[in-house]
Amino acid sequence: MIDELASMDHNDALALMEELNEKTFRAKQVLEWINKGVRPDAMANIPKTLREKLEAIPFGGAEIIDVRKSQRDDTMKFLYKLDDENIVEGVLMRYSYGNTLCISCQVGCRMGCRFCASTLNGKVRDLTPGEMLSEVTAVERLIPSGDDKKRTVTNIVMMGCGEPLDNYDNTIRFLKRATAADGLGISPRNISLSTCGLVPRIYTLPDDAPHVTLCISLHAPNDELRRKTMPIANSYSLSELIPAAKFYSDKTGRRVIFEYALIEGVNSSDADARELSRLLKGINCHVNLIPLNSVKERSLNGVTRKRAQDFALLLQKLGLSATVRRELGTDIDGACGQLRNKHIDSQKEGEE
Ligand code: SAH
Repeated sequence: MIDELASMDHNDALALMEELNEKTFRAKQVLEWINKGVRPDAMANIPKTLREKLEAIPFGGAEIIDVRKSQRDDTMKFLYKLDDENIVEGVLMRYSYGNTLCISCQVGCRMGCRFCASTLNGKVRDLTPGEMLSEVTAVERLIPSGDDKKRTVTNIVMMGCGEPLDNYDNTIRFLKRATAADGLGISPRNISLSTCGLVPRIYTLPDDAPHVTLCISLHAPNDELRRKTMPIANSYSLSELIPAAKFYSDKTGRRVIFEYALIEGVNSSDADARELSRLLKGINCHVNLIPLNSVKERSLNGVTRKRAQDFALLLQKLGLSATVRRELGTDIDGACGQLRNKHIDSQKEGEE
């Protein structure tokens, strides 16, 4: 028996119909509903007897329980409730080329980055592939594109709560279903996976998953500085991480994105920019800069936008491709983990 409905592929659906003594053609019908995130009780063209059998199987769902809309831009933030009541979050950003949904892959995170709100209370559990797919389909049900052939969510970034390469197998299965023609059918070019740098997994990724855009959270130009904010830097040094990035780019032909959050007085000086340019010399890459989003529980502050732009200019002069990322949804706790923490805090206050 399969473990959840939401991440079934056509073969799984066929095997399930056989197991349930149902006609083969039901597999395609059921899969069409699944790809729309519809649960068995609402599968209109499926007989009640089959719906009941399907309802007995875990779904792997994520239901939107709260929506925040930014007053400054069109960004929307969602709180999802998983079937076991755990909470994760997602953000929908509107761009001229389409809509990008930022999804979560774990409840909490155990990577311990000092500037990140997701990791404050550690990891609770991994998300299943179905739950990640459901984050996408739940948004599409809430905001239909109006055209059956077009998706609302055209791009996905795995940059919400959690570390995708610390939930490797489920992430791979999610990516396969997200890109499959009989799944969500989203091009791998439109999917980005962000990692704090689990080096061995970067090497296996090109063979295991469709060639998505790899983003590496770098945030420092040397090991000493990186270790101050990112515990993962104690496990893998830059002399291991940078060759892994180069390997990914060489193997897939894709440009690797390095993310760099500029923290006041920590990693944002001209000397840091120079060191960064030396570190990344010769790698097919782009540097995405963002002033750190200050998190109330942490004592680290972001630089001004002007400083971020100057840092980008210096990197460009030194021969790197670099831009400052647009800040979207800052009025709705856009940074990962912030809204979930607020929700948990408010529930605690309610209980007190
Ligand atoms: N675990 C993955 C993906 C999750 S976070 C990773 O580490 O890449 C997505 C990005 O947001 C990462 O680059 C992360 O370092 C960054 N980030 C986390 N907290 C931030 C903050 N307060 N301000 C700016 N960027 C932040």
